[in-house]
Amino acid sequence: MPEYIDNHCHANFPVYEADREEVIARALEAKTFLINVGTHKATSQEVVDLAQKYEQGVYAIVGLHPVSEEVFDYDFYKNLAQSKKVVGIGECGFDFFRSTSLAINRETQEKVFRAQLDLATELKKPVMLHIRQAYKEALDVLKEYKSRGVEIKGNAHFFAGSIEEAREFLDLGFTISFTGVITFTKDYDELVKFVPLDRILSETDAPYVTPVPHRGKRNEPVFVSEIVHKIAEIRGEPVDNVRKALVTNSFKLFDLITSL
Ligand SMILES: [Zn+2]
Repeated sequence: MPEYIDNHCHANFPVYEADREEVIARALEAKTFLINVGTHKATSQEVVDLAQKYEQGVYAIVGLHPVSEEVFDYDFYKNLAQSKKVVGIGECGFDFFRSTSLAINRETQEKVFRAQLDLATELKKPVMLHIRQAYKEALDVLKEYKSRGVEIKGNAHFFAGSIEEAREFLDLGFTISFTGVITFTKDYDELVKFVPLDRILSETDAPYVTPVPHRGKRNEPVFVSEIVHKIAEIRGEPVDNVRKALVTNSFKLFDLITSL
C-alpha cells in the first residue's frame, strides 16, 4: 500500500518535460501514488500513455475541462477509458471564473458536463469534478441525476465552496479534496474540520498551488505529504490516522486495487 495519494495532478504538462521521469520516481520512491487528470483530448491521451508506462502507482482520469473549446467526443473518451489505468472521468463540471472571457456559455458547459456524467455512468467510473464559482449549478445537475435514480460518485476537486455546499456534495455521496492552498491560508480550516475523515482526499493539482514549505518552486506530486500533514494538524488528529484514512478513501473511490 502507498503512504500518500495525489488524487489530482498534471505530471503530463510541458513544465515537466525535462524531468518527468524523475518527478514521478520521486513520488513512487516516497510511496506516493498519483492520478494524472486530462483536460482535453491530447492531455487525456497523454495521461493514459504515461500511466501505462508504470506497473503500479500511476493512474489516469480522462475527460474535457469545462473551459476547453473542444467538442466532447464521447466515443474517443469511452475508448480511452478501456485502459485499466483509467480510474475516472474528468475533469468536468462548470467554470464561470475562467469562462467569463471565453465564448463558452452555461448551456454548452452543462451539455459537456452531462455527457461526461453519462459516460461515467455507462462505464461505472467516478467523476473528477472541476467547479469554479458554480457550485449551485453543478449541484442542480447532480441532484437531477439522483432524482432519476442514476447514481454518480466522484470527488469535488480543489474545493473552495462553503460548508453548506460541502454538505450537499457529501449528501450526494461525493468526496472533497484539498490542495496546497490549505497550507498558506486559514480560509478553509473550518471546512477541513467539517468534512468527515472518510470523505476527504488529498491532491497537489501540480504544477499549480505549491504547498508550504516549497512555495516559489514548481509543485510536484511528492509534495502531497505536506497537504496530508496539514489536514491532520488543522483537525488535531494523529498524522498516521489521517494518512491511512486518506489512502483508504482513494482506493475505495477509484477502485485502485483492481488497477495494481
Ligand atoms: Zn486539474
